Amino acid sequence: MKEKFVYFFSKKLSEGSKEMKNLLGGKGSGLAEMASIGLPVPAGFTITTEVCDLFYKNDRHYPAGLEKEVDENMRKLEKEVGKKFGDADDPLLVSVRSGAPLSMPGMMETILNLGLNDRSVAGLAKKTGNRRFALDAYRRFIMMYGSTAKGIDREEFNHAFETLKNQHTRKRLNLAAHVKVNDTDVDESELEKLVTEFKAIYKKLIGKDFPQDPKEQLWGSVDAVFGSWMAEKAVTYRRVEKIKGVVGTAVNVQQMVFGNMGPKSGTGVCFTRDPNSGENIFYGDYLVNAQGEDVVAGIRTPIKLSEFEKADPRSYEQLVDVRRILEGHFKDMQDLEFTVEEGRLYMLQCRTGKRSPGATFKIAVDMVNEKLISKEDALLRIKDKDIEGIFYPIIDPDQKDEMKKNFLVAGIDAVPGAATGKVVFNAKEAEAAAAKSEKVILVRKETSPEDVGGMHAAQGILTATGGKTSHAAVVARGWGKCCIVGCEKLNINYEKEELSVGDIVVKKGEEITLNGSTGQVYRGAMRLIKPEPPASFTTLMGWVDKIRAIKVRTNADTPYDARKAVELGAEGIGLCRTEHMFFDTEERRLAIQEMIVADTLAGRIEALNKLLPFQKEDFKGIFQAMDGFPVTIRLIDPPLHEFVPHTEDKQKQLAQKIGVPFEKIRLRVEQLHEANPMLGHRGCRLTITYPEILDMQVRAIIEAACECAAAGVKVSPEIMIPLTIDKKELQILEIRTRQVADGIIKTKGAKLKYLVGTMIEVPRAALLADQIAEVAEFFSFGTNDLTQMTMGISRDDAGKFLPEYVDEKKAGIFSDDPFQSLDQAGVGMLVKMAIEKGRKTKPELKIGICGEHGGDPKSVEFCCRVGMNYVSCSPFRVPIARLAAAQAKIKETK
Ligand code: PEP
Ligand code: MG
Repeated sequence: MKEKFVYFFSKKLSEGSKEMKNLLGGKGSGLAEMASIGLPVPAGFTITTEVCDLFYKNDRHYPAGLEKEVDENMRKLEKEVGKKFGDADDPLLVSVRSGAPLSMPGMMETILNLGLNDRSVAGLAKKTGNRRFALDAYRRFIMMYGSTAKGIDREEFNHAFETLKNQHTRKRLNLAAHVKVNDTDVDESELEKLVTEFKAIYKKLIGKDFPQDPKEQLWGSVDAVFGSWMAEKAVTYRRVEKIKGVVGTAVNVQQMVFGNMGPKSGTGVCFTRDPNSGENIFYGDYLVNAQGEDVVAGIRTPIKLSEFEKADPRSYEQLVDVRRILEGHFKDMQDLEFTVEEGRLYMLQCRTGKRSPGATFKIAVDMVNEKLISKEDALLRIKDKDIEGIFYPIIDPDQKDEMKKNFLVAGIDAVPGAATGKVVFNAKEAEAAAAKSEKVILVRKETSPEDVGGMHAAQGILTATGGKTSHAAVVARGWGKCCIVGCEKLNINYEKEELSVGDIVVKKGEEITLNGSTGQVYRGAMRLIKPEPPASFTTLMGWVDKIRAIKVRTNADTPYDARKAVELGAEGIGLCRTEHMFFDTEERRLAIQEMIVADTLAGRIEALNKLLPFQKEDFKGIFQAMDGFPVTIRLIDPPLHEFVPHTEDKQKQLAQKIGVPFEKIRLRVEQLHEANPMLGHRGCRLTITYPEILDMQVRAIIEAACECAAAGVKVSPEIMIPLTIDKKELQILEIRTRQVADGIIKTKGAKLKYLVGTMIEVPRAALLADQIAEVAEFFSFGTNDLTQMTMGISRDDAGKFLPEYVDEKKAGIFSDDPFQSLDQAGVGMLVKMAIEKGRKTKPELKIGICGEHGGDPKSVEFCCRVGMNYVSCSPFRVPIARLAAAQAKIKETK
């Protein structure tokens, strides 16, 4: 079958529909749909996005047959409207507009009045009986074509227009110097002069006459629209907005209607509901006697729709009718563009309207209550960004100009939200500043566990290295703290206490702003706003919980985080990283360091006994906060070198504090050094070597649980062994865990049920999951390590090259960052296989995920599909995971 590149739309014949958004773009499919349901749409045609794709694939050449198809559609359009393109008596004029499948501000603007030339302008004047109007349309066209299609600086035209107004119009009207001359004051003969001048500007800068052949004008405009798809601003916009899989823009050619024909004409933009609050009120602006670009250029202040109603009730009524029909038809809030020509309404665009996160929830819930959509449809409309938007502070979007001016650098958007503060370069200073109620941003090359105090104290964290599962990202995510990592262009000079990006230097104490939702960093303090979660959010999340089939837990290490997570809907803890508890206070830090430095078992046990009460207290707090929900506590995981100081200064301080010779500490730290610590002495390899650490941690867990139970708090502990690689290894630790736990339970005469299970983080454990399930009562997939080890890519260093792997315009090897969204093809295959093998051995095996993927919607959908019992994520992502779980269920049912 012959390929079709052009789709016609008119009231009589509409070849496209709303389902063809990918092919016709948002604008094209909306116009086709509106035309087909009988709304007043000026006729026209759409050149498909596929043409754009082929254009780039064929070295900027159009596919064969396109020109002929465009010609045929032009003839069809002429027939439909009864006018001829370029006609000297009654010319057909068209607009040319771009329209991608997703709305993309920053793409090419519109070209209006195309088809005007020295001949047809006279025809338009004659036909309308309004020569001034025809000349005005012509000067607009020359300016739009010259600037938008040919790249002439708009200012060249504006300057000429202003000069004319001041030198001629002002004199003619005798206006004082301070009085503004309006565009509408310029008369016919002055416009005639202006057209001549505009053409001269065009010739001077382009080196050719302004094209008189309408066909040449048309192709010049079509070229420009397709060319704009790859313009830097459009490419950047798609990258920032993570728009992928969209092949190109469409081009819409449509008969012109005129909003600038007098007081009964005008043009406007409106939303069928308030896009900020979500209220069911008609919302928009209207400009009397104007063309579309006047609204954008802001040359006059538009009036509100309520004033439009008063000024022109008949036209307004037509618009209200259209609003009702379109909402009923599209079943969503629409963003409309329209023109009124001499009292007749024409629709120029309809598309799903962008809205604030708060409005998203209100509109979805209202539409269910109005029986416009089902609850399921409402839920499928909500995106993770909408939920993020109502919990995190954001940069007040009114500061677009400042943002442009003060942009400094961009990194990886690790934790959303925004933060402002003074730059500090070390954690201690961040803590000290926070103690004085100063707001700071902690800037580090990378962070380490020693920095957690300062990270917590800071408003936001910025690092030059690392990816989405680096230490900084994981810790900050747990707190919902704005964080940008992997900012490779950032030079940090700790000695000089300054950061720089190219020539720009920011010194300690100067303010910066982070936008963790986009990864962008700005100089200065931007104004932040914190949206309030609307009541409709609670209503909608109630529906979510009724629908979803999988539980949502949280990764939390403190009673505070645990409580926060429960408030956000968590139904248990899927991962409590116990080592974070060792850093909380100096007393704890010293105790663990003393344990590491001790060279006898008795010495280690003595130091561990100092830690025991702290761990126990933390566990009690967490059990209380979780009030009967399961709590999975993981035994020590990181390599021991992470707990000891590495600089001579700090080692000397430690020596003094714990009364051990400096040399001994130095040697021990040296001894702990590993060439490849991520594959070294960590996880359960530590408790195989030092089972006394396991003894202390299990004791703390079980004693805390028994004491809580005795006080009437329901407890459900699950003890988790990390990084298991073998059944025998797990068995040794499981037996020891049960010996300690059962001993305590027996001594206390308590009735306590607990589980012992393992993380699946190493490919070998996934491969041998059937054997491991003989010992484990549950599996929890640690997909941060499982991704790292399956792919052989360091989770802490991936920032150096992964962005290129993910960028469609660079290598484009992966569609997503595998540390953020589970690599379903590779790592996912191991997960799926391990679940099947594990359940073959033990059908009731409880299975969850606690890697960062547990809060990523696509990964949550995968976890549902492969039959996990729960996902676990940081507290602030709990609502996102709940929603994703419900969406997965709805999709599965559908
Ligand atoms: C994991 O590896 O996925 C995990 C949850 O453990 P951690 O991030 O602490 O290594
Ligand atoms: Mg891990």
